[in-house]
Amino acid sequence: MDKKNEFMDEIVNNSGMSRRDALKVMGLSPIAAGLLLSGAAGEATTAEASSSAEGKIVIVGGGSGGIMAMARFHSALSDPDITLIAPNEKHLYQPGQVFMAAGEYTFEDIVKDNKDFIPDDVKWIKDEVKTFDPDNNKVITRAGEEVSYDYLVVATGLQYHYEWIEGLTEDMIGKNGISSVYLNNAEAGTADGGSLTWEWFNDLKEAAKTGKQKVICTQPETAIKCGGAPQKILYLSNDFLKQDKLTADFTFATSSTNLFGVPEVNKTLEEEVQPRYGNITNKFGHNLVAIDAEKKIATFEHKYELQGEYDEDLEEYDIIKKTERVDMPYDFIHIVPPMAGVDAVASSPLAWQKGTGKGWLEVDQYTLQHRRYNNVFGIGDICGVAKGKTGGSARHHGPIMVGNLLSVMEGKKPKEKFDGYTVCPLKTQYGKIILAEFDYKGAAPSFPLAVGEQRWMWWAFDLYMLKPMYWYLMMRGLM
Ligand SMILES: Cc1cc2nc3c(=O)[nH]c(=O)nc-3n(C[C@H](O)[C@H](O)[C@H](O)COP(=O)(O)OP(=O)(O)OC[C@H]3O[C@@H](n4cnc5c(N)ncnc54)[C@H](O)[C@@H]3O)c2cc1C
Repeated sequence: MDKKNEFMDEIVNNSGMSRRDALKVMGLSPIAAGLLLSGAAGEATTAEASSSAEGKIVIVGGGSGGIMAMARFHSALSDPDITLIAPNEKHLYQPGQVFMAAGEYTFEDIVKDNKDFIPDDVKWIKDEVKTFDPDNNKVITRAGEEVSYDYLVVATGLQYHYEWIEGLTEDMIGKNGISSVYLNNAEAGTADGGSLTWEWFNDLKEAAKTGKQKVICTQPETAIKCGGAPQKILYLSNDFLKQDKLTADFTFATSSTNLFGVPEVNKTLEEEVQPRYGNITNKFGHNLVAIDAEKKIATFEHKYELQGEYDEDLEEYDIIKKTERVDMPYDFIHIVPPMAGVDAVASSPLAWQKGTGKGWLEVDQYTLQHRRYNNVFGIGDICGVAKGKTGGSARHHGPIMVGNLLSVMEGKKPKEKFDGYTVCPLKTQYGKIILAEFDYKGAAPSFPLAVGEQRWMWWAFDLYMLKPMYWYLMMRGLM
């Protein structure tokens, strides 16, 4: 079966839609419709031209970014010499974990074998890199194998740190009212966060039938992947109760100072989404630091500012920064873990050594080339750039990073520029999404529609189309 039909069949089978309706939904996406209807889904849409450049490319990490990069290099190079170092036999479509939490997908919907994406002539080392040694152009695996390279692509993603929250360990998730949609393990091929949060939705509904429940949804102070996911769970679980005319007291405790960084989206959340529920209290500047699972108390560090004395010379008030610890009782809590660059990168010379990017890969935010090692590039969440830890960003990194690395291989300067694009399909209720797309400069909608509007068609696009687009186009370097 050709890729076009495989792609279409997945939409039809998973949605229960007829092929005609699926085509209509696809009409919502000019890119996808263009690809499918013109029959171009089998052709590369890459910015990078084909190249006869030579050299050994080592890609570290076999998730979204690593597999996309590998597919693009493989099709662009006439004689590719690619080694992939990736421990995971399974590949997770992680955005689908939120739909698992909402009862729309099961685990089977979001997992495939990584081998299906890796061509036979790519050398696949099923291990992880323990040490990066960029001064000697080599990496060392957990098993002790030394692998040298001419060019290195770092695609390791990030790492969760549940243990940074005092009293919390990963095995507590799914028990005593605690959940976390993020929980997954690429190497083990598990995405328990999705299924455990769906159980959490149902347990909350049962409990809400017996009395008012206190629900807390948290967002940490570190950078996180898919910055909208904490609120997706807040609104979907709330709507799940609302469908049965039930309610609870929801608290959104976030380290941030607003609901969303894009003003148009923030406005919709403040003026339409949250008032529709009428049961959400926002606690800004609140970072979860400890949990007592037995007593069901969450402790936050609350950072805030007070106005001090007026300074006659400066003609302004002093700002006094305050921090206090706040205990909040809960019945149910959804925890988003602090996140950081994976240890192997963070502890290597490849990481930013100081500043806000400390521990993340030190790449130029436009070219994605390492700022100190010219033969090293980054793709995906590990990149220490100002915006975007999403699959959508990784998709935009793909052609830029590959095009620039090919230029370096050909002895030229990188010229492609990443604009900071990222996307968050923010689920505000069952059947409604705000498609928040933005870049380094601000809102960056791909469609000529008002930014910040909740729409059913984005829900349909996300639920039925993005997953097949991911498997059949993005992971094959076609989009
Ligand atoms: C709950 C949830 C919801 C999300 N929702 C969305 C969404 O709606 N839209 C969106 O665009 N994105 C979303 N994302 C984010 C998206 O999944 C990630 O941004 C994307 O997967 C990043 O790709 P990556 O390759 O950088 O990292 P990953 O896909 O995580 O892959 C990194 C890989 O590197 C491997 N690795 C780690 N360390 C090493 C090492 N030392 N050596 C070798 N391999 C290593 C890991 O095992 C892993 O397989 C969501 C994620 C989650 C968890």
